[in-house]
Amino acid sequence: MITMKLESKAPMGPVGQKWSKYKQDMKLVNPANKRKFDVIVVGSGLAGASASASLAELGYNVKCFCFQDSPRRAHSIAAQGGINAAKNYRNDGDSVYRLFYDTIKGGDFRAREANVHRLAEVSVNIIDQCVAQGVPFAREYGGLLDNRSFGGAQVSRTFYARGQTGQQLLLGAYQALSRQIGLGTVKMYPRTEMLDVVLVNGEAKGIIVRDLITGEISSHSGDAVVLATGGYGNVFYLSTNAIGCNVTATFRAYKKGALFANPCYTQIHPTCIPVTGDHQSKLTLMSESLRNDGRVWVPKKSGDTRLPQDIPEDERDYYLERKYPSYGNLAPRDIASRAAKEACDNGLGVGPGGRGVYLDFAASIKRLGEDKIRERYGNLFDMYERITGENAYKRPMRIYPAVHYTMGGLWVDYNLMSNIPGLFVLGEANFSDHGANRLGASALMQGLADGYFVLPYTLSNHFASTKQNKPSTDAPEFKEAEEGVKERINKLLSIKGKRTVNDFHRELGKLVWDKCGMARNEAGLKEALERIPQLREEFWEDVNVLGDAEELNPALERAGRVADFMEFAELLCLDALHRKESCGGHFREEYQEEDGEAKRDDENFSYVAAWEYKGVDDTPELHKESLVYEEVKMTQRSYK
Ligand SMILES: Cc1cc2nc3c(=O)[nH]c(=O)nc-3n(C[C@H](O)[C@H](O)[C@H](O)COP(=O)(O)OP(=O)(O)OC[C@H]3O[C@@H](n4cnc5c(N)ncnc54)[C@H](O)[C@@H]3O)c2cc1C
Repeated sequence: MITMKLESKAPMGPVGQKWSKYKQDMKLVNPANKRKFDVIVVGSGLAGASASASLAELGYNVKCFCFQDSPRRAHSIAAQGGINAAKNYRNDGDSVYRLFYDTIKGGDFRAREANVHRLAEVSVNIIDQCVAQGVPFAREYGGLLDNRSFGGAQVSRTFYARGQTGQQLLLGAYQALSRQIGLGTVKMYPRTEMLDVVLVNGEAKGIIVRDLITGEISSHSGDAVVLATGGYGNVFYLSTNAIGCNVTATFRAYKKGALFANPCYTQIHPTCIPVTGDHQSKLTLMSESLRNDGRVWVPKKSGDTRLPQDIPEDERDYYLERKYPSYGNLAPRDIASRAAKEACDNGLGVGPGGRGVYLDFAASIKRLGEDKIRERYGNLFDMYERITGENAYKRPMRIYPAVHYTMGGLWVDYNLMSNIPGLFVLGEANFSDHGANRLGASALMQGLADGYFVLPYTLSNHFASTKQNKPSTDAPEFKEAEEGVKERINKLLSIKGKRTVNDFHRELGKLVWDKCGMARNEAGLKEALERIPQLREEFWEDVNVLGDAEELNPALERAGRVADFMEFAELLCLDALHRKESCGGHFREEYQEEDGEAKRDDENFSYVAAWEYKGVDDTPELHKESLVYEEVKMTQRSYK
């Protein structure tokens, strides 16, 4: 058997010069020839919209697909807190190198150096690009763009637009996309779901989609396929992601041979509104930006039922400030989440069920005044009040960690190309530059870096270096894939069982959260790995999907996505079981330092785990990309 060799294809040379060297050496497609290439982009969030607009501006023909009714509704719109960039406007010691280093360290030394450095380099261009588009970033009194701090950094490098940064950035990208739609260089397909990737002679040459209004299944062919389809956090059922977020596009590409990397690296965000009961289908994030001015604490005494304002200062434990004096309330997400869990496990949690900690603004309000806090976070406080009925200007917010982001995704090389030639993956959908833990405000940066500044180069290089021939959609590969998609839909509709899709999803999510959530151990993971295939079997025997295939049928859409989660969850747990170390968001209880911090095993696990599909009931094959650090010295991660 030939084992696949995973090559990053990062250029040789010092890390700070690799991207410049790439751009100098790359091959170009001349402007007249660009018109001959058709690019399929699935996804219209920050990554997909920025890529589609930029590629069309270059002269390529783009088809862009999304399942929402408008590209503007992609999940990126939900991002609240901000976007990082190494502009050093504050003159507080930031630099490209520092952003690079913070990201590598924040990711617990499990990301590829060359990609992360490139990300830090282009971060500065993103801000210029967005300002030119008119994105209304917050400004200081003097008119310069304002910054705030996010977790895992000691500088202020986060640009923001109140608590709506994602929305404003997406409007900028959407505007650029709309311009190209108007010019006819992008054809937009809203309410259209990709259900398979088509490979011809081993290369990605098209997709199969379902029109979500009419149910029609059709094929689209192109010279390259770009997946910018977001993350898979909803495998846990409850998460801060939009309800529609799913793994289908990347998982079906995985089933066609694309490697899935580090699926177990999931991010649990420390500042979410606590779960209140079984009725919930979604959780709400309170942006990390709040930790700039909010102080996290729990009562020192377990079972303390006094109101927060009645608990005196010396009976409170500001545990992040105590445990991590240099980063305090801005400790990275994985660390802050685990500390909250530990406090609640020790019986110190607050609110109904005791699964909550306080995020208290009293000191900042005293120092800055309520108006200043309202100006910075007003919409977040309003949202909190609408959901909990509590006024956070008067009493502390209650927060608890929740699933938020997925660092894992399809494996890509330096070109953002998967192991399938012609299949590119951007944004949260790829295994990304965040290693085992993403720092706050770095996802928007990565999505826009990929779409505006990286893919336009690497895709051109790909087209110029390889011979292209776009197949017709009459090719047997398309017909076969279409049949496969139809068969699966008909199967889902024909089961007519007793349990709803939602019921199955909730059970799966709870299992994955309990056994592969904030803390994982061998026994629990093995239990999950035994139960998931049984649950999958029950799903395919007993699920009830109403309605027909040839109509608008949200239940059917949901069923297809949950069916994929039923398989994907197993891969996630398998990856978590094999990684016998703790790093970033992956905390294995067996591998911790004496003080409870994550214990990495660099000797044995300093690699990207990339899994190859072998069949629904067969164990996938593990391929490894070694992570070699030339620039940064791997150290024990410390925020103390
Ligand atoms: C509540 C919340 C707040 C956040 N705040 C921040 C923040 O302040 N800063 C930060 O850096 N990050 C933040 N993040 C993370 C960040 O928002 C996301 O990682 C990022 O927006 C993902 O962008 P994307 O373009 O990769 O994917 P998305 O925005 O999720 O877009 C995915 C696109 O793919 C399409 N799609 C998916 N599957 C299919 C399919 N099968 N067929 C057709 N189309 C498909 C969708 O229709 C959509 O257009 C936040 C996340 C959450 C949940």
